[in-house]
Amino acid sequence: SREWHLVARPSGWPAVADFALRAVPVREPAEGEILVRNRYLSVDPYMRGRMNDTKSYVPPFGLDEPMTGDALGEVLASRAPGFAVGDVVTHRLGWREFAVLRADDAVAVPAGGEVPVSAYLGVLGMTGLTAYAGLKAVARVREGDVVFVSGAAGAVGGPAGQLARLLGASRVIGSAGGPEKARTLTEVYGFDVGLDYKAAPIGEQLAQAAPDGIDVYFDNVGGDHLEAALDVLNTHGRVAVCGMISAYNATEPPAAPRNLGVVIGKRLRIEGFLVGDHWGLRPEFLREAAGWLRDGRLVSRETVVDGIDHAVDAFLDLMRGGNIGKMLVRLDG
Ligand code: NDP
Repeated sequence: SREWHLVARPSGWPAVADFALRAVPVREPAEGEILVRNRYLSVDPYMRGRMNDTKSYVPPFGLDEPMTGDALGEVLASRAPGFAVGDVVTHRLGWREFAVLRADDAVAVPAGGEVPVSAYLGVLGMTGLTAYAGLKAVARVREGDVVFVSGAAGAVGGPAGQLARLLGASRVIGSAGGPEKARTLTEVYGFDVGLDYKAAPIGEQLAQAAPDGIDVYFDNVGGDHLEAALDVLNTHGRVAVCGMISAYNATEPPAAPRNLGVVIGKRLRIEGFLVGDHWGLRPEFLREAAGWLRDGRLVSRETVVDGIDHAVDAFLDLMRGGNIGKMLVRLDG
């Protein structure tokens, strides 16, 4: 089995040389364990933080150790009740071809259903639940809200804009990098407005798109996007702080937002959240989102890169904005 190791801690943008693909033997599963052949690996922005040796909500990757992350695969051998050969599962031992893990750490997903299994790493997986939890439990979107979502062409942002509408928002504005992504927001995902933040300052564009202000900002980006949102948020507006990807590879902290003081006069609520605190919403989310996917009210896109050799390239491309929808690595069978 081949697996990716972090071999040097990046400063700023990671380089391919910070990683190594190494061959290791696959051990037999012990009692209570399963052996899984991974079919899809998830690459996610939070992994950048794990490459630093700093204390955070997830521990750093060890040097010269296999990296971890979400993965989906099929059970090749099982020594655990409840799992049979051929079952499809998601688990946390990504970045590798084969995984041996405790069956308790695997979640079975329905194979052969109406949705492709890869959805369980995206729109029906961690990123979809993040969108749902951020809107429902954190921003508490309600009927008639005007909602702005940044990073809107991505794995969290695409569902976030669509779910906002399904949860009652009257107007949904999204931003993403480049004309193709901005078009995708309106033409594929049904946003009312798709802003290309690379075309003109986001503050000017947002002010124009939201003449009556916004009630909710779902933040994936931070920096200038947060500053722009603070400017147009209405009194008692809510900000769900999901991520701040504009700062993940920065060596200097961002200058914006410079207008944080408006939180007082506008009585804003700005709340960060971690999807891991909201697993309780998963059954309800799966029920609702699977239904919306089936009837076409929720549309999902994936960007798939083939081959474990290209997993690091896929991660770097994700950080550069090379994806529309969930970025996944597909391993051949
Ligand atoms: P995406 O699929 O959105 O991919 C990342 C995207 O970020 C890129 O496609 C790129 O799109 C955009 N981006 C990169 N740099 C910048 C920049 N400087 N300014 C604006 N946009 C930028 O990833 P995810 O959907 O998986 O994650 C989105 C956010 O949600 C991240 O911040 C992530 O950390 C966070 N997150 C938080 C979770 C939580 O529990 N709080 C859980 C999961 C994700 P573009 O071309 O538009 O620039």
